[in-house]
Formats: sequence, C-alpha cells, structure tokens
Amino acid sequence: MKINTFFKSFLLLQLIFVNCNYSWSQKKSPNIILMIGDGMGLSQISAGMYSNDNSTALEDFEYIGLSKTSSSNSLVTDSAASGTAMASGVKTLNKVLGIDPENIFQKSILEICQEKGYKTGLIATSSIVHATPASFYANEISRYNYENIAFQLSKQNIDLFVGGGSKYFTSRKDKKNLIKEMLKYDFVKSIKEFEKSKASKIGFFTYFDEPPSIINGRAPNLDKITRIAIDKLSSSNSPFFIMIEGSQIDWAGHNNNGKMLISEFKDFNSAIKEALNFAKSEGNTLVVVTADHETGGMSFSGRVNRVFTKFNTKSHTATMVPVFSYGPNSQLFKGIYENTEIFKKLKTTLE
Ligand code: MG
Ligand code: ZN
Repeated sequence: MKINTFFKSFLLLQLIFVNCNYSWSQKKSPNIILMIGDGMGLSQISAGMYSNDNSTALEDFEYIGLSKTSSSNSLVTDSAASGTAMASGVKTLNKVLGIDPENIFQKSILEICQEKGYKTGLIATSSIVHATPASFYANEISRYNYENIAFQLSKQNIDLFVGGGSKYFTSRKDKKNLIKEMLKYDFVKSIKEFEKSKASKIGFFTYFDEPPSIINGRAPNLDKITRIAIDKLSSSNSPFFIMIEGSQIDWAGHNNNGKMLISEFKDFNSAIKEALNFAKSEGNTLVVVTADHETGGMSFSGRVNRVFTKFNTKSHTATMVPVFSYGPNSQLFKGIYENTEIFKKLKTTLE
C-alpha cells in the first residue's frame, strides 16, 4: 500500500513537472479570435438566449466587461468609428475608417499581427468591404467608398477572407478586375471548395452583393465557415488573428425585425461555440466577443421560449455593450472601459 501511494505521488509530481515545463517552453504568442456582433447589445443577447433553449455559448466565457461605444463626434457611434476604435485604438468621426480626427492614418491590430508573423483572417456575414471588416484593413474617409476599400483589401495580404460583395472587385467604375490582380489568392466558389483548398491565401466571396439574412436563405452558416477558417489558420506553426462578424444582427435592429434578429443571433452564437471549442482544446487562444454598439434600443417581454421584441428606434443607441473573454489575458477585459481599450488589450496580448 505504502509503496503504491509513493509511486502515485511520484507520478503526480512528474506530471506537474512535465506540465510546468511545457508551459515554460511555450513561447508562441496566443492566437486571437475577435468576434463582433454588430448591433448586439444585452437585450439582443438575452432575447437570443431565451429563444435558444435558454442558452448561449457566451455563458462559458471567463470574464465579462462593458465597453463605452461613443465616437469622437457623437454619443451614438456608427460601425466605422466603433470598428476603428476596436481595430486601431482611436476614437474617430462617424463614417471614417482607420483615420483619426487629425487625419492621421492608423495601423490596425490585424496589420500589427501581420508584422509579428501572425496568419490573419476576416469573416463577415455582410460584404467584406462593409464598415466593420473594412476597419481592420482600410484607411478611408468614407465607409461608403466601397470600391476604394476593395482596392485596399486587394493589397493587404490577408491569408483568408470570407464575405459578400464580389461586385466591388469585379464590376468597378475603373474597369479593373481586382480578383485577376490578386495573383496569390485561390478564389473558391463554394464551402466545399473552401474546405478543400490547400492554398496559402484564400478568398471566398459568398455573394456578389450583400448577403441575404438567414431568414431569406443565407448560406453557408457562420459556424461552418468559422470551423474551416480556424482549421486552416491553425494548421501552420505561426499564431493567427481572425475577426469574425455577425453583421446582420445590426440590420435586424435597423429593420426592427425580432424574428430576423433572433435567427442572426443564433447563427452568430453557433460560430462563438465553434471558436470557444477550439480555444478550449488548443489552450493558447484568446477569444473576445463583443459588439460595436447597440441597434434599435431593443427591449422584449414574453413567455417561456416565446420572445416579443420591442424597439425604440431604427438607429443605433449609445448604451454600453458587453465584452466576453476567454483564454490568455482574458482577465484584461473585465471592468468598464472605452472601446479603444479593446485594441490596447489585444496589443498587450501580442507582447
Ligand atoms: Mg458591421
Ligand atoms: Zn447599423
């Protein structure tokens, strides 16, 4: 018996020693998965959760914070200014991408990650040139200069991107076909091709124009895209950064459409689950889920499993939005802070 106990303790000690050694030698910077539910305030999350058997992947996160979303010229931000705040750490004017109020171009966290040897990816359920994804790669005075934004994406060397809006690359006023100019890329045409492609740079245009909503048949679902994208980005020895946007939670808010809102939340929630499962098994991945602002001034009532949504406005509001974090440095994201701090906390994670 005694010998047995001795051996057991010895084995345990050895296990601890091996594990410590492992974490000491683990010098690789963490992967970063940043997920933005556009327009996803606490009411959107709550209504989505109650409509999803009273559950959301967000319940498994380690820390929760609150982000103050105002832009440099308004309490109520738009997605360009708030995207820029999170991507580059500066408050700017509504409608501006990657440029501060003094007209200085800002480097985004995605670009900083590229400099540090990270693989990078962008996924949106809007077009890939829409304000939220664009704030990670473009410097543009107006978010609506879609063809300029597309041109900037074509020069960015992002390893993988998925979203709608191929028309801004192929049906342009300047007659250029950017897809033909992006020689390093494999442009895949379906989720199957996306999964199969072994190319080091992949572009997947899901739609020619803006993708439809889930209730109008958008495919493929975000969890599937997310799983394949993470699988590809994590297959090299380099760490990766990816921004994944649930873009149309915001559009449902603008439309005051509760049914659309809940289906868009569920789509995003399933992608959060994929990202979190990866982080849990991989062990060196920071996942941050937040919103750029709230949309619709939403509230709701209801019976069990039946939510009745109400909206106060067809625009954005200035209410704070939650930030959920999991993994290395997740503790940095607790508390109440400006949305620009999200950039700074992510940057700290790289160092
Ligand atoms: Mg957006
Ligand atoms: Zn909006």
